[in-house]
Order: sequence, then C-alpha cells, then structure tokens
Amino acid sequence: MHEFSIAISIIDAVEFEAKKVDANTITNLTLDIGTMSGIEFYALDTAMEMAIKNTILDKTKIIVNKVQATAKCIDCSHNFEIFHITDACPKCNGFFHEIIRGKELKIKSIVVE
Ligand SMILES: [Zn+2]
Repeated sequence: MHEFSIAISIIDAVEFEAKKVDANTITNLTLDIGTMSGIEFYALDTAMEMAIKNTILDKTKIIVNKVQATAKCIDCSHNFEIFHITDACPKCNGFFHEIIRGKELKIKSIVVE
C-alpha cells in the first residue's frame, strides 16, 4: 500500500523535527496535499490512523489541506482547475498544459507542546 509508506515517512519527518526542539507531544500537524499528487486521501487517512499508533503522533490532531490542482495552458496561457491529467483547456480546448499547483505533499506546520 503506497499510502502506508507515505504515512511512515510523514511520521519519520515529524519525529525528526520534534527531536530537534526536544518536544514530547505534537498537538497539531497540518499537511498540504495536492489533488494531483497521486495520493488517495481516504487511503492516506486510514494509513495514518494505523501508522501513528504508539508514536509521537498518537494524540495529534492531523489536518489535511486539500490543494486543488491548477494547470496553465501552453497554447493560450489560461490558468484553470484541473481534475484529470487529460482535461483540455476550457478556453481553447488545447491539451497541452503544465501543472502549476496540486502535485505537492508537504508538511505545512507542526505545533509542539
Ligand atoms: Zn488554452
């Protein structure tokens, strides 16, 4: 399960940061996850729930910000929300675009106690 290994690497990164500041409890963790990141939100939720057991994140409130993907049309430079990689530009129907937002998976903030 792809999402499970992602959950583990998120926990590893948080534990590493917590150690740096000598924190024992993480109250809040905020993640930014793009809709084009290839991650199933539901699967990640489930994986996180399992993976955080007995870790520093066991009691943490985890907030996931869903970042809607945006693409820029190569032909007409129009920016539009994209839901599938094969979506055409709504303005000129062009199929060539670059994803400018929505591929990210990052830890936005960690609140420690
Ligand atoms: Zn276009």
